[in-house]
Amino acid sequence: MANPRRTRQDGRPSGVADGRPSGSTPAAPASAAAPANPAAPANPAAALAGVYLRPLRDDVLPARHSAGARRRAGQIQAFLRPLHEAARTALRVEADVTLLVVDLRDWHKLARYPYGLPFARTAVGGRQANVIVAADHQPRLLQRFDGAMLAAARAGVSAPAQIGEFVDLMVGHEWGHAVANLSGLRTRLKWLDELNATYLFVQALRATGQRDALLRLTEWSLWQVAGTSAEAGDLAAFEYPRTRAGWDRLLWYQGVFAERALDLSERRGWGYLTELRSALPPADRGELARKLVELEPSFKPWFAVFGRRVG
Ligand SMILES: [Zn+2]
Repeated sequence: MANPRRTRQDGRPSGVADGRPSGSTPAAPASAAAPANPAAPANPAAALAGVYLRPLRDDVLPARHSAGARRRAGQIQAFLRPLHEAARTALRVEADVTLLVVDLRDWHKLARYPYGLPFARTAVGGRQANVIVAADHQPRLLQRFDGAMLAAARAGVSAPAQIGEFVDLMVGHEWGHAVANLSGLRTRLKWLDELNATYLFVQALRATGQRDALLRLTEWSLWQVAGTSAEAGDLAAFEYPRTRAGWDRLLWYQGVFAERALDLSERRGWGYLTELRSALPPADRGELARKLVELEPSFKPWFAVFGRRVG
């Protein structure tokens, strides 16, 4: 997985652009940021209750997987591990992230999203996150890219590989959400959180010298934008009526964010993220809850009323 060019339709990862909106894209799960799945526990540990996933232990990026998904889990883990290590060091955070690679059955025990697109889920309190990845690619999911594929071809831009590779690139974007959420980088401005998730992924690839993967990501972004250019919109539209934004439109936005991240990271490196973090107010809910408990400790037992662990 370290080199998407060499990977084939089955176990390749890397990551960019998703369109997971917070709530209601036809088939897109909400990204880390978005508690779009009311039925799923917000606490990843709780979400795993009753699901047996085999461990692939690692002191940097542990993984768990369904039976039969060991190879893919190992590949994605190997791909993300150096990125995770680089990001932890650069951002000076622990970033407790676990990769879960699950089959259809286990997927539905964890989430209500349609099986297929990776997503991230951050625990209440913002101290742990899971990146959930499908064990395989279902044709139905891959077909959703047919329209973009056709439009891109008409514009003279062909996809650099099979579409499964593009879906796997989204794993890197979701990992970016997870790390951002655990690093005080969540802005709650949706477009910026999307941009930053991809930026984290891109910058981690850059920092670990993965030129081939960056090049591939660049090619995919070009394809993505070319295939959805009819959907161009403004940032306000991305913030607001996401419920009505179609699949292709979300792809367009994510493609534009990816191009921006690729461009900006070349010049700004990790500095963009660390400087942005210093500029952000502690608006993260977990952080806010911790500060609230610091100034008024009785909030801590009171939170128990809601059945969730805080802090
Ligand atoms: Zn996202």
